[in-house]
Amino acid sequence: MKLLGIDLGGTKILGVLADEHGKVLDERREPTLAHEGPEAVVERLVGVIRGLTPGGGVDGIGVDVPAPVDTNAGVLYAPPNLPGWSEKGVPLISILKEKLGWGDRVPMVLMNDANASTLAEYRFGAGCEKVLGREVSHMIFLTVSTGIGGGVIVDGKLLQGSQGFAGELGHVVIDADGYRCNCGNSGCLEAMASGMALAREAATIVAGKRETKIAELAEWDPANVTAQMVVEAARAGDPVALELMEREARLLGAGVGSFVNMFNPQLIAIGGGVSHAGELLFEPLRAEVDRRVMAPFRGTYEIVPAVLGDQSAALGSVAAAHGLCVIRDT
Ligand SMILES: [Zn+2]
Repeated sequence: MKLLGIDLGGTKILGVLADEHGKVLDERREPTLAHEGPEAVVERLVGVIRGLTPGGGVDGIGVDVPAPVDTNAGVLYAPPNLPGWSEKGVPLISILKEKLGWGDRVPMVLMNDANASTLAEYRFGAGCEKVLGREVSHMIFLTVSTGIGGGVIVDGKLLQGSQGFAGELGHVVIDADGYRCNCGNSGCLEAMASGMALAREAATIVAGKRETKIAELAEWDPANVTAQMVVEAARAGDPVALELMEREARLLGAGVGSFVNMFNPQLIAIGGGVSHAGELLFEPLRAEVDRRVMAPFRGTYEIVPAVLGDQSAALGSVAAAHGLCVIRDT
């Protein structure tokens, strides 16, 4: 079976042709050039799909986008990273079907990118029996990069909610008086513990002229500070960066502890740039979550790094497209 997963991001479009086991057969990357507007981006999506499926030889297509998505209707709503897309909703699947001219011969599905990554880590990555060594059917995925995205697997299925909006774990509030979030709320996990939040905290330290390797990496300009610099300095043993990672683990742990209480998962997989700190993040995070969960939950879950890297969303779209084909064939 040949399945296509298309990950439409703010900066790049990644297309992956894979089989139903997630084995990648071909791949194509294009810049999104989001500033050119929706029509130009749709044309590039069509180009990536056609380039990977000469003659239309594909069994199903999944597309994921950095936006809330009505999966049933194939409609996405105003992605913050893609300027010019209507807040009233863009019926992307209908548009693509019309442009490709394949009618209903090739089933297509639309997903939110973090939900797609969750599905991919569950089916082909950290939660897959071959990787983990045991079977799980309850899992949480979290990506901690510029923002925080996530998703939830319950009873072996992605939790989607009534419209497909469920699983916005980055927008769970951990501090009612916390920083303003991009979503309009304040004190969200994303506003407090994302890569952006980590960089904001580090920039304040650099501005205060405290001695740290982060300042050196940022050439002593607070405006240059990134989360990656904090991770790099922590890995080099810089005490200030290590303090910041401890703080990061504490904030993240407040969120993850609540997710454990809420969903009783067997596995929590964490990816994204901030997770590249490895055990410098994971060790204090595990301790913090353990401290915060209700007693019966202790020892019932594992917190591990995600494994699929930047292909995860595209592979999740592959998994979703496979789900469609299975439903159609039965
Ligand atoms: Zn938020």
